[in-house]
Amino acid sequence: MQYRIDPKSGNRISALGLGCMRLPGFALGKPDARAADAIISEAVAQGVNYLDTAYLYPGNEEAVGASLERLGLRDRVFVATKLPHASCKRYEDFDRIFDEQLRRLRTDHIDYYLMHNITSPVQWERVCSLGIEGWIAKQKAAGRIRRIGFSFHGSSVDFPVLLEAYDWDFCQIQYNYANETYQAGTTGLKAAAARGMAVFVMEPLLGGRLTDKLPGAAKRLLSQTADSQLTTPAAWGLSWVWNHPEVTMLLSGMTSAEQVAGNAAVASAALPGSMTAEQLATIARVVELFERANRVPCTGCSYCMPCPHGVNIPGCFAAYNVSYAHSWFTGMQQYFTASAIRTGQPRLASNCVGCGACTRHCPQHIDIPARLRDVQRRLQPGPIGLALKVMTRSR
Ligand code: SF4
Ligand code: SF4
Repeated sequence: MQYRIDPKSGNRISALGLGCMRLPGFALGKPDARAADAIISEAVAQGVNYLDTAYLYPGNEEAVGASLERLGLRDRVFVATKLPHASCKRYEDFDRIFDEQLRRLRTDHIDYYLMHNITSPVQWERVCSLGIEGWIAKQKAAGRIRRIGFSFHGSSVDFPVLLEAYDWDFCQIQYNYANETYQAGTTGLKAAAARGMAVFVMEPLLGGRLTDKLPGAAKRLLSQTADSQLTTPAAWGLSWVWNHPEVTMLLSGMTSAEQVAGNAAVASAALPGSMTAEQLATIARVVELFERANRVPCTGCSYCMPCPHGVNIPGCFAAYNVSYAHSWFTGMQQYFTASAIRTGQPRLASNCVGCGACTRHCPQHIDIPARLRDVQRRLQPGPIGLALKVMTRSR
């Protein structure tokens, strides 16, 4: 395993971290304990020493805490979790939630604690007005929080303002070869590193959109230029992130022990500055192909769900993108499956009434109702739309 140094603490952190949000079973809010044990034990065996979870991931802190206790691995890893700051209405809420997190994670301290998804300086100012700065100082002095940071999905304009707003130890940003100028972007990465902060990366493969869901032409290009190290689209995407010396660690939401072993092997060789000019040129061509096919930047995180009108929002967007990346027919097939059209409770894009309840939860800032209208135009055109109406009315 390759290790990189957190510049403020001197901690030696594995370049590959385990993002626990997508542990098997996560969609049902009940991560599978045996699968969690297998993934976490393999990760630690491979040298991974950083695990990331959050209060808001259903059942996740409990699952991670129970696994670490069963496996006896708590002292071998840095545990990171996040405060749902928007749910904190007064100072006492910080203590209440944090105590619950310690209980769930079966630990007496959190190594890396984050404000979860601060997207604008106004949000940080609001928690400051509740006394968060004094609360953090108290927890740090007591050794219950070791390092403090924030995760970010806001704009490139707001990111430097947040960096300045507090003496952070670290930050966590979305970063990958398709997002160089999106959210914090490369400029934000360099700005955080220049302040001496550790920078942790999330979404290095955009929730699978830079692996299995890449357009066919992009996959072919990567496989034609593969070498012994860059054997898969995932290896290309992860290596591109690790190529940046400012990146301390990247989080991968690995869902099997095999995936852990594969990514760990890539991590060992993907040193800063190790990609050649030819390999970087290949990535630039892949980005062009990706941008041409990828019409909605949905990562499938499901933060926007559930829709009160039953729309399968990430399913609609995934099918829509597939209809451009592969073929219209493939997208249609996927749309019918994702929309549960045969169940009598269809979750079509046309079910959307434009209430907007979903939009504020989307870390990618997608105008969900507007883009669902695009989905409807492409995947429920004229006669198909009419047929679907009749089918769903007759049930
Ligand atoms: S805007 Fe549409 S998709 Fe979003 S919550 Fe409302 S009905 Fe559902
Ligand atoms: S629309 Fe936004 S919140 Fe919903 S799944 Fe996609 S990226 Fe996540």
